[in-house]
Amino acid sequence: MKNVYLIGTGLIGGSMLLDLREHLKGALFYGIDQNADHAQRAVENGIVDQVATMADLAKAGLVLISVPVDAALVVLPQVLDLVPENALVIDVGSTKEAICNQVEEHKNRRQFLAAHPIAGTEFSGPDAAIRNLFKKKTMIVCEVEKTAFKLQEMAKELFDVLGVRVRYMTPAAHDRHIAYVSHLSHISSFMLGKTVIQEEVNERDIFDLAGSGFESTVRLAKSSPAMWTPIFAQNKKHVLDSLDGYILNLSRFRESVKNDDHKAIFEDMEQTNRIKTILKGIENGK
Ligand code: NAP
Repeated sequence: MKNVYLIGTGLIGGSMLLDLREHLKGALFYGIDQNADHAQRAVENGIVDQVATMADLAKAGLVLISVPVDAALVVLPQVLDLVPENALVIDVGSTKEAICNQVEEHKNRRQFLAAHPIAGTEFSGPDAAIRNLFKKKTMIVCEVEKTAFKLQEMAKELFDVLGVRVRYMTPAAHDRHIAYVSHLSHISSFMLGKTVIQEEVNERDIFDLAGSGFESTVRLAKSSPAMWTPIFAQNKKHVLDSLDGYILNLSRFRESVKNDDHKAIFEDMEQTNRIKTILKGIENGK
């Protein structure tokens, strides 16, 4: 593979290239971004060798699309129109159903692989890109059977370099599961942050009293609204379902507190302690 193009030179795509560059010796790496400062910074940070434009994709061997999910719906069909035969195109957006539907009928559909790395941080842009972000994490791949076999193999080699384990899912199952384990966590963190800020008008007090529990729970509330707004819009149905379940649990908890039902409060928390075992299992790769 001679020419690798990254569209969206931020946290996720940038982190991927930092790892891939070590292994794809001899390849040239190019960055395309609507944000000229980010593209330039990606060169300075050693993520890519040069800034490029969409017209250059005619020379591509691999294209990684790592832009917000609403932008990806526009960019992906353009990329599939422009790339040469045998080039692999991977999208890493956090929703998968809309993007797979978008190119279902595209004549070059077999050159596309729909993926979602379950890894990230609350930071954005090329300065946030780090090495080894994906090591021992999961890469969800959707509709793998719709990608040409040779290109599936190429993708698997790249994923091995990143150190991810691959899980295969339908786009619908991906979007439903991820609404609970990722999208709802972000909403709850944003709304927790909002609630505390509204109550504690004096920000200095929040700063002084905030323990590590508060800090770790609101960490995700630092995430980029530009990235998250289109995710919630695209995954509206599953996000609403997950919010319904969450709001019901919050309301029940509120009732228990209001009614001094300490037994219910205790049991609710005790049952949820199972999360320790579940997460330990995930850490151990079970
Ligand atoms: P990011 O750090 O904000 O980087 C995205 C870059 O894409 C920005 O430089 C942005 O420019 C640029 N961009 C936006 N629209 C574009 C377009 N139409 N053409 C070219 N460039 C464009 O975002 P990220 O966190 O890397 O996320 C990238 C993708 O990965 C998203 O689809 C996200 O859902 C997915 N993802 C994120 C995480 C996570 O934890 N962050 C984890 C897994 C997957 P501007 O600065 O002008 O907006």
